[in-house]
Amino acid sequence: MKCYNHHDRDAFGVCKSCGKALCLECIDNIENTVCCKNNEKCKEFIKNAATAINDYKKQQNSKKIMSIVFLLASIIGIIMGIKNNSFAVVLVAIFFMALSLIMMTDKKV
Ligand SMILES: [Zn+2]
Ligand SMILES: [Zn+2]
Repeated sequence: MKCYNHHDRDAFGVCKSCGKALCLECIDNIENTVCCKNNEKCKEFIKNAATAINDYKKQQNSKKIMSIVFLLASIIGIIMGIKNNSFAVVLVAIFFMALSLIMMTDKKV
């Protein structure tokens, strides 16, 4: 495969944005992704994609923290409910515990 800009040079990678083959002179690396050098559109595309992935990861992390908080709260709720002989509180706490376990195990949510 030859470089899109230099037809006499071998390509070392393909831009993940526009799909052009690139030689060492034309290649750039943004967010660990191969990209056209001197092409703002391609750089913008790669940066936006990386930002979207990071946002998604952050979202997943906050869900994990939420489910752990839910789980701890439900355990406290069960203990409090048993101490106070309140069956309703224990039931609600068990419901929250089940919810937090679903949040932990279901990766699609
Ligand atoms: Zn490109
Ligand atoms: Zn080139």
